[in-house]
Amino acid sequence: MKKKIIVTGGAGFIGSHIADKLLSNNCRVTVVDNLSGGRMEFLEQNTSNPDFEFKNVDLLEPAKLETAIKGADAVFHLAANPDVRLGPENTKVHLEQNIIATYNLLEAMRKNNVRNIFFTSTSTVYGEASVIPTPEDYGPLVPISLYGASKLACEALITSYCHTFKMNSWIFRFANIVGARGTHGIIVDFIEKLRKNPQSLEILGDGRQNKSYIHVSECVDAIMYAWEHSNDMVNIFNIGSNDTITATRIGEIIVEEMGLHDVKFNYTGGTRGWVGDVPKMMLSIDKLRSIGWEFTYNSENSIRDAVRSTLGKLQ
Ligand code: NAD
Repeated sequence: MKKKIIVTGGAGFIGSHIADKLLSNNCRVTVVDNLSGGRMEFLEQNTSNPDFEFKNVDLLEPAKLETAIKGADAVFHLAANPDVRLGPENTKVHLEQNIIATYNLLEAMRKNNVRNIFFTSTSTVYGEASVIPTPEDYGPLVPISLYGASKLACEALITSYCHTFKMNSWIFRFANIVGARGTHGIIVDFIEKLRKNPQSLEILGDGRQNKSYIHVSECVDAIMYAWEHSNDMVNIFNIGSNDTITATRIGEIIVEEMGLHDVKFNYTGGTRGWVGDVPKMMLSIDKLRSIGWEFTYNSENSIRDAVRSTLGKLQ
């Protein structure tokens, strides 16, 4: 009997890759998404597959959500507002789209007796960690963005539901994920700016922000591997590359891949790109390694592949 899996946010960048992978692993997949950030075109390849269905449901509508997830074996919960930069101008968006949405999902799962949840968390739960690479047991967790705070709150809700209602969870704290279908983040931002003005590139901060990036294909494979190789009530794993890359170097790769020359880099100044930005981030991936997983991508080739996909050079 094929497993029935719900993917919230499955029309988004990472969620659509998760949906593809689950279908290729012989699961039935129902994507639940309100298309606020996702696109139906990311799911086009699956629409004629009898094991696939799409439900246009907002996680902030609990009754519809309860109906949408009936009969599922597990939920991959990716629906969220992922924009860290929004916090200072809109203090409610991450509370509603991330915390309340996750609470609604957990309630829908509890009422439907759906016991397994996979959650996409983030490096921002660590805040400005004093230990780099940062391991999963680092603490105290002191997020510096409202987005990071909301994801930490979601993690806390999930782990407490697991203990209270005998559920199981896999929580993945991502570094920056890049690749085909990326719709936001530094690559999209730089490419858009350079298309408008190929002579100069505005880089937020001093360009020395140094962070880890991993390709979406390996992120998805690592999630599937962790699912197969861990079975505690709460399983928390970092996902990222074993190195970092600066914002300036990303700019150089994009300039090269776009075939541009003599582009002037203009820095807005300061050590951070925006309020709530963590300038140095690299996660320890030893826990995943301890169960036998190895990443083959590093930050530079993850970025280069993602740039090529965004420019239409790769599928
Ligand atoms: P994305 O914006 O492409 O995907 C999010 C999806 O959720 C979209 O399809 C959107 O339509 C849907 N959605 C949002 N609010 C919803 C709601 N109320 N009801 C139903 N659907 C809703 O973002 P992404 O980059 O693919 O991120 C996926 C997940 O991974 C998010 O939870 C994000 O916080 C997390 N994450 C992403 C990164 C990254 O580098 N992209 C890093 C760390 C964590």
